[in-house]
Amino acid sequence: MKKFAAIIDGKEFTVSSEFSVHNPATGEVVGHAPNMAKEELDAAVSAAKTAFVTWSSQSDEFLQAACAAVTAKIEAHSAELAELITLEQGKPLNGLGSRWEMGGAVAWAGYTSGLSLPKKVLQDNEQGKVELHRKPLGVVGSITPWNFPVMIAVWHMLPALRTGNTVVIKPSPYTPLSTLRLVEIMNEVLPPGVVNVVTGDDKAFNLGGAMSSHPDIRKIVFTGSCATGQKVMQSAADTMKRLTLELGGNDAGIVLPDAVPEQIAEGLFWGAFLNNGQTCAAMKRLYVHESIHDAVCDALVAYAKNIHVGNGLDEKSMLGPVQNRMQFDKVARLVADAKGRGKVLMGGEPSEGLFFPPTIISGLHNGDPLVDEEQFGPVLPIIRYSDVEEAVRMANDSPNGLGGSVWSSDKAAARVIASRLECGSVWINKHGAIQPNAPFGGVKASGIGVEFSEEGLAEYTDIQVVFA
Ligand code: NAD
Repeated sequence: MKKFAAIIDGKEFTVSSEFSVHNPATGEVVGHAPNMAKEELDAAVSAAKTAFVTWSSQSDEFLQAACAAVTAKIEAHSAELAELITLEQGKPLNGLGSRWEMGGAVAWAGYTSGLSLPKKVLQDNEQGKVELHRKPLGVVGSITPWNFPVMIAVWHMLPALRTGNTVVIKPSPYTPLSTLRLVEIMNEVLPPGVVNVVTGDDKAFNLGGAMSSHPDIRKIVFTGSCATGQKVMQSAADTMKRLTLELGGNDAGIVLPDAVPEQIAEGLFWGAFLNNGQTCAAMKRLYVHESIHDAVCDALVAYAKNIHVGNGLDEKSMLGPVQNRMQFDKVARLVADAKGRGKVLMGGEPSEGLFFPPTIISGLHNGDPLVDEEQFGPVLPIIRYSDVEEAVRMANDSPNGLGGSVWSSDKAAARVIASRLECGSVWINKHGAIQPNAPFGGVKASGIGVEFSEEGLAEYTDIQVVFA
């Protein structure tokens, strides 16, 4: 089985200890990653710090061209990376799976390469000239989760590089291989030390924690759970790091009485079940007006019945296994509890290994664990409501605020309701759509800061105002 090497300072970096990575569809080992500790993290940060001196002084045109070259490399290796994602993450190659993830990674990399943050002249008169400049920060530490390993790595790294920073990235122990290969590919066109990768199994040593407190890392961009995000924030405090935290969500969808069930069933399904619900901005709670409740449930179940769940390498598969045992056990526990409270319309029983069928349960309420907790799995609880004010109140009754959606035949009416949802993105008749020119981020406990677009790019810089 292939051993994947880390790249530090442009060179392969191996350590004596390694950990194995498993295919969640079969349990087979698909590769080995280096199990690194403080010493290797220090080497990576030191390489990035040295590289920063030259990289940060490059012209804007140079950085733009370098990021475009990185994008071309990623695009050229899309098929290989997609297969690696499927092997370690479990999502299908086909449909909204790993090829789709790679399409997103290339689109975001290309768009980000073309962005810039030119200086702004705030004043130019007889009193003098005042200019706002954006300066790179230094070494950026990127910590990523296991659900979209390559796309999220690109979301973190490209804006950092584009603005003149250097990077040390640490992928999730569940999905390190695609990131190790991604960084290797990027290093074919980048100077040594500009992008470095460290990996570890999170057992003997907490690499992410050590990054968050490292004195020579100036910013952490973190995507992951709320609980870990809080730890990152605590350990980053002593060194006053800049932070972008993209954390968990528990997104609500509200179906208004005038929606047409057959027309919205497909959008509802993928809004909830994309990547098996292991998507930060997946719809995790669906509030349906009592007048069309049963029709919406029927239409959703009818659509879901046609979805093939299986090994991601099989082109027929539209959904794969749950990614890991801990996640699977959480989903199984919440579903078992919900069975005693509501009515299982579909699924509900674990299948072989880490496979869990799309599960739809009605008759649930706020306060039920499946509704209140971020279950991050292939499950959708449906809550009946009679008054839209009640639906808005229940949707907002959550510590999270990543996304939300309203489903209706009357877009104008839906927009009014959507504007009252406490979250960073709201969608009408869809859920979870994102694009590189629109800022994305959570409110409340779902995070701090945004990614994408000029707003996201600006988070990789400090402002310096020049008064002349
Ligand atoms: P996680 O928080 O368990 O792990 C995320 C990363 O943090 C991993 O690389 C892990 O090794 C690292 N880590 C672990 N302990 C750490 C510590 N003490 N300090 C610093 N880093 C540490 O999350 P996960 O299970 O990999 O991913 C699922 C979660 O990610 C879900 O809650 C999901 O909603 C969230 N997520 C959010 C977004 C978003 O954009 N808001 C996107 C994808 C996933």
